[in-house]
Amino acid sequence: MAPDDELMRSTETALTSDVRGAVLRRGDDRLPDELAGFQTAHPHRPDVVVGARDADDVVAAVRHAAAHDLPVAVQATGHGHTTGLERGVVVTTGRMRGVSVDPVSRTARVGAGARSADLVGAAAGHGLAPVSGSFPGVGVVGYTLGGGLGLLGREHGWASDHLRAAEVVTADGILRRVGPGDELFAALRGGRPEVGIVTAVEVGLVPLGEVVGGGLFVEAEDAGRLVPVVRRLGDEAPESLGISLGVVPVPDLDVVPAPIRGRTVLHVRLVAPDAAVARAAEDAVREAAPVLLGGLRELPWTESGSIVGEPEVPHAYEGTNVLVTTLSDEALGSVVAAARSASVGCVVDVRRLGGALARPADGPDAVSFRDAGWIVRVLSSTEGESTAAVRAAHAAVLAPVADAGLGRMAAFVYGGSPVSAAELHSPAVRELLARVRAEHDPRGVFGPC
Ligand SMILES: Cc1cc2nc3c(=O)[nH]c(=O)nc-3n(C[C@H](O)[C@H](O)[C@H](O)COP(=O)(O)OP(=O)(O)OC[C@H]3O[C@@H](n4cnc5c(N)ncnc54)[C@H](O)[C@@H]3O)c2cc1C
Repeated sequence: MAPDDELMRSTETALTSDVRGAVLRRGDDRLPDELAGFQTAHPHRPDVVVGARDADDVVAAVRHAAAHDLPVAVQATGHGHTTGLERGVVVTTGRMRGVSVDPVSRTARVGAGARSADLVGAAAGHGLAPVSGSFPGVGVVGYTLGGGLGLLGREHGWASDHLRAAEVVTADGILRRVGPGDELFAALRGGRPEVGIVTAVEVGLVPLGEVVGGGLFVEAEDAGRLVPVVRRLGDEAPESLGISLGVVPVPDLDVVPAPIRGRTVLHVRLVAPDAAVARAAEDAVREAAPVLLGGLRELPWTESGSIVGEPEVPHAYEGTNVLVTTLSDEALGSVVAAARSASVGCVVDVRRLGGALARPADGPDAVSFRDAGWIVRVLSSTEGESTAAVRAAHAAVLAPVADAGLGRMAAFVYGGSPVSAAELHSPAVRELLARVRAEHDPRGVFGPC
């Protein structure tokens, strides 16, 4: 037996006695299911996977890895997965999906593996909601640690602004509860510091009943008339309006409604708790261009995933983005035109930021570029496409806004899409993250320092 194999076998044996969840060694035929996530590119190929059932399992996994000098990574849903670990220990959190809501303090305690839909569902019974994003399948912890751009973020700020406390196993294998006053807590509020594994978070909830929201599909040829209206609504509408514009190459499949099947269309997404605000925006869109399909309706927050309506099928994808302070009609129009003419299918998502997203948090945090007024995202399936072609297409789509870019949002950098630390964090946040890494993971267990 090779020395590495021996080491891994003894590690696994020791882990198996300490861990209540699953311990799966390289070659175990249950591994593909355990590691299956939304992103199918660059899968982890570690020596051992610990399917944690609780914080003690996470402590055991991190202590064993640290004792044997093995790198550690964590995977929840795999939505934000970038590069795979080729050795070491991966901790999966899918068994830790507990959510409990305290309606009096308007907070929720959320396990590391809970998805947005779990939290939204638990909060809804109390007339409350998290500042959740567009997709119900995303993990609450990964989303919040990355800042968390919610559909109603312009009114309520970043999801990380609502982080009250976190329980985290740091590289030394110690479970810590951190809150306001801790630098680690500040780093967890939007900096995704990668110095430990969060086992649970406590998040604030906002009162929210029904909203009015939905998406309107418009012919791509009508971009010239629609783009200025979306840009103006974004800049002038009240903060309670969530608004984004998608450019979507819709597949030619029978399950797709005929009016949009097999063509590239524009998709305006609108949502507001105040019906009058949402309906006024819908009227403006309908005046600008004929709507092929869709419209607004009253809906509970538990159905907010229908507003953008992202596909739920796991696949291989790359994506990146640019944050800009302002967006002109010309620049937005050029992004749309570049996406339509790209040689690779490009999904574009342009979201208005500003409002509460631009205001400071109530304490130190790690969200960079709060002054960004818009985020311009692009994403492509990499299945059947060369990486070089996808990256060239993304560069072309983002070219009209690249020079004005403040940086990129890490949560929307997918697959192996190239990005530098300077693009992801402001200098002050980079210094904060470096201090936190030096204190909590000086040996780089969770990644190179
Ligand atoms: C279809 C789709 C829609 C999305 N919509 C939005 C949106 O509206 N707003 C928004 O802000 N983002 C959105 N995202 C991005 C999403 O927030 C990030 O990809 C986020 O990182 C996903 O976290 P996850 O746990 O689901 O994914 P994973 O891939 O499992 O985790 C991603 C990363 O999060 C970190 N992480 C996860 N769990 C832990 C943990 N327990 N401890 C420490 N670190 C952890 C790790 O760095 C990990 O590599 C979307 C992504 C997709 C694919």
